[in-house]
Amino acid sequence: MPPQYRFIPDYGEDELAARQLAGLQWTVAHAFDGSPFYRRRLQEAGVAPGDVKSLGDLARLPFTTADDLKDGYPLPLLSVPESEVVRIHASSGTTGKRKVLAYAREDVDAWRHMFARCYEMAGLTLNDRVQIAVGYGLWTAGAGFQLGCEHFGAMAVPIGPGNMEIHLELLTDLKTTCLGSTASMALLLAEEVAKRDLRDRICLKKAIFGAETHTLKMRRRFERLLGLSESFDITGMTELYGPGAGLECQAHEGIHYWADFYILEIIDPVTLAPCAPGAIGEMVVTTLSKRASPLIRYRTRDLTRLIPGDCPCGVRLPRHERLLGRSDDMFIIKGVNIYPGQIASVLEEFKGVSSEYMIHLTRKDGRDRMLVRIERAKNESPEYDQNLSLAISEEMRKHLMVRGYVEILDNGTLPRSQGKTRRVLDERDKDEE
Ligand code: ZN
Repeated sequence: MPPQYRFIPDYGEDELAARQLAGLQWTVAHAFDGSPFYRRRLQEAGVAPGDVKSLGDLARLPFTTADDLKDGYPLPLLSVPESEVVRIHASSGTTGKRKVLAYAREDVDAWRHMFARCYEMAGLTLNDRVQIAVGYGLWTAGAGFQLGCEHFGAMAVPIGPGNMEIHLELLTDLKTTCLGSTASMALLLAEEVAKRDLRDRICLKKAIFGAETHTLKMRRRFERLLGLSESFDITGMTELYGPGAGLECQAHEGIHYWADFYILEIIDPVTLAPCAPGAIGEMVVTTLSKRASPLIRYRTRDLTRLIPGDCPCGVRLPRHERLLGRSDDMFIIKGVNIYPGQIASVLEEFKGVSSEYMIHLTRKDGRDRMLVRIERAKNESPEYDQNLSLAISEEMRKHLMVRGYVEILDNGTLPRSQGKTRRVLDERDKDEE
């Protein structure tokens, strides 16, 4: 029997589908009535609110994209009168204006409930102390970790990213038990704890990390250096309230997502057709009760796949794989679609290298060349570099169907960042000039 949860529901398939349909019908009617943008979009697609009769009708609805958010700046997708808006958050657009999203009071409540489920799924108790090492302010990350923590009932220790000295001070003095951060920040903190030999003076047991793709190796490293019993991958994005849209469970077999708050579709980013069950594709989300800025088939650009079947942890909400990169980072080389996450998975099989990597694409005489730069693991001798790079290159060819060159660098050479790490440097156009 699964444990009795306070926040995580136990819906059977039919009940979940009924909730999703009711939420979808509500969302389409609400957006149609409240937002000139959505009304125009739906009319162009020939869909009236009453036309949504089954979950299958979702496929008739038009997609929404990041460009639509840009066009609606500063309050895109707004579907309620401004008097209902109690808060905004924003994320940096990769180009140009920020994405600003509005929240009604009900949206803030929904978000903290979703995030409380994350702490519950990670097995925290009211006695846990959560050290929050993600950005505060306009960003959703800090606000989400804190709202969820307080709603769940654990103690929030809000610090923000960076501030290494304060982090170390409170890790040791307050004996915080759970870290909320990006994977890069967790690794940075772990390396600092190891360097200063603080491991025996801290009490961290768990980490909830997200906001970027990570490798298993990176994760094992910070788990070991911080002495964690386990860590949990969290998902979410500003458009979808913020972090807390789903969490890896204690069986560590994928991420359960809150399917009673949003519907998740996986599509081929090039053809926009639904992917075969279990295939990798882009996540598309439709919210079911979001008031201020609802999402209808919003293309997230995040890549993942659905995991079929029941989870051994007993939670019946559906699961998807950890995020495997961005569809914008997908590159096509020699006619093959490649996601950086696939290269990371190959590297995970090799003990002699670290988890950091950079992919460098160039073109010479009309031929594409892929160079993967990786780091030798600490304390490994450069003596074996050549054998190792050949073995990795061969393994990549087997998994990706494309040959790449592998260059092995000294440990610590590749750039580390506290935020999102860019893995692909595509200079094929540059070389062609
Ligand atoms: Zn599970």
